[in-house]
Amino acid sequence: MLENVIEFFKNLPPKKCTQCGEKIEEQHECYGTTCDKCNHL
Ligand SMILES: [Zn+2]
Repeated sequence: MLENVIEFFKNLPPKKCTQCGEKIEEQHECYGTTCDKCNHL
């Protein structure tokens, strides 16, 4: 069953910034839904 969970997360689309649509590479839990650029505006 653990493999199914891993597959589920692998199939998730990459996290995208809600401001500019840029793919978010960082995996910080407190990062929110914006990329680094928009986060520091
Ligand atoms: Zn952005």
